[in-house]
Amino acid sequence: MIEILQRISDTIWEIPVSYKQGMRVPARIYGTEKIIQELDEAVYDQVTNVATLPGITKYALCMPDGHFGYGFPIGGVAAMDVEQGGVISPGGIGFDINCGMRLVVTNLTYDEVKPHIKKLVDRLYERVPAGVGSTGFVKLSRHEFRKVVEEGAQWCIRNGYGWEEDLQLIEENGCIAGADSAKISEKAIDRGVNQIGTLGSGNHYLEIQIARPENIFDRELAKSLGITIPNQVVVMFHCGSRGFGHQVATDYLQIFLKVMESKYGIKILDRELACAPFHSPEGQAYFAAMKCGINMSFANRQVILHRIREVFSEILKKSPEDLDMHMVYDVAHNTAKLERHIVDGKERSLLVHRKGATRAFAPGMEDLPKQYKNIGQPIIIGGSMETGSYLLVGVNSGEQTFFSTAHGSGRTMSRAKARKIYRGDKLQKEMESRGIYVRSTSYSGLAEEAGGAYKNIDDVIEAAELAGISKRVVKLTPIGNIKG
Ligand code: 5GP
Ligand code: MN
Ligand code: MN
Repeated sequence: MIEILQRISDTIWEIPVSYKQGMRVPARIYGTEKIIQELDEAVYDQVTNVATLPGITKYALCMPDGHFGYGFPIGGVAAMDVEQGGVISPGGIGFDINCGMRLVVTNLTYDEVKPHIKKLVDRLYERVPAGVGSTGFVKLSRHEFRKVVEEGAQWCIRNGYGWEEDLQLIEENGCIAGADSAKISEKAIDRGVNQIGTLGSGNHYLEIQIARPENIFDRELAKSLGITIPNQVVVMFHCGSRGFGHQVATDYLQIFLKVMESKYGIKILDRELACAPFHSPEGQAYFAAMKCGINMSFANRQVILHRIREVFSEILKKSPEDLDMHMVYDVAHNTAKLERHIVDGKERSLLVHRKGATRAFAPGMEDLPKQYKNIGQPIIIGGSMETGSYLLVGVNSGEQTFFSTAHGSGRTMSRAKARKIYRGDKLQKEMESRGIYVRSTSYSGLAEEAGGAYKNIDDVIEAAELAGISKRVVKLTPIGNIKG
């Protein structure tokens, strides 16, 4: 299969439009030769299907952590020109709308935290509910929840969950404009109303990590991002919009399937790519509903951040302020956003779908918080609970991917296969002996998440750097983890 790929560089591989009827643009897959050799071939089919969607501009892209997903590959990026009939597609955003990662620092060192690690993880496990269908401690009326999904993290700050300074460190300042709860079904409200402040299941996690001196790639940049002391303790967490976002995606997939061909004459190669013109009533309704999913997720992560500060403060007997528990940033990796990009010398209005891909804005770009204007957008990437994670920044050459990069290491095997190879209880003990204390709601869930079920995170991050779509700053290694 690799024979059909044209090697553009050591880390960029192209499938030409001649590969499949209907392709409007070539597909480009990012990765070293090793990553490409090991890639699930289903990804070729998916990324070239994406290349047939109306309005797609330049390339259908797949990041180096890419793997098989619903319709689009996970790791997929597709920019649709909304002035040229471009579509919006839920499969290009994902069911977990605005799933994302948030990173918060402390002024503690590994030595200071080590004696408390079990207590910290156990208490976090109580205060940040995890698992399928878990419910949180924020009790809201349906009416109030509708406000939350329109106001995002801004609602949280007004209601005492966090610090004012947190807002500017979230994409869209924690509230994306244009969210309209009138476009949300009662069923979606039912599913979400009790889920603010919850982690969810599977690969969602809350992890205590350390920045070891040998894992700092750029000392100056690390300092600008708040990594200033040797073996500094940080907390990274990953979750999204829970059942709420899932229901929004489900509702609109059904609507799109009904109108796509009959009303708009759009033929697709895979039902999972269901879409509608961005400028259609259905497309606009989904866009406004999807933004509610974005805000729900920002609010969810904001409340979780508040819980993390409470728990650290309780166990370490210092205020969160005295522990310097500042946020580094919050990134989304399942969204579609309207952005202006220069394509072939002309500025165009593009709906950039990033599904399991992180925005990676370069230094100087608009929308960056003041403190990061000169260094580029912080990018937070999970590896696995065993191996490590990364903090990166965006770079100028990221223009080639509409300023997007990877979001994780990406799976190499199905969950079912991982369950056959690994045993959760055994894994938990082994990890503990290696200095990683992990709590999970399910042993089989833990087995599915073994480090070996994922690509090597160092390879993925290196490929992204060689391709010029993001730059390494720090690798972070785990010492405590809560798995959904
Ligand atoms: P996704 O957003 O596609 O659900 O997955 C995000 C990424 O997070 C995965 O590709 C994987 O690399 C990473 N990941 C999953 N579980 C963990 C974990 O427990 N800890 C860390 N650090 N990363 C994880
Ligand atoms: Mn998710
Ligand atoms: Mn995710």
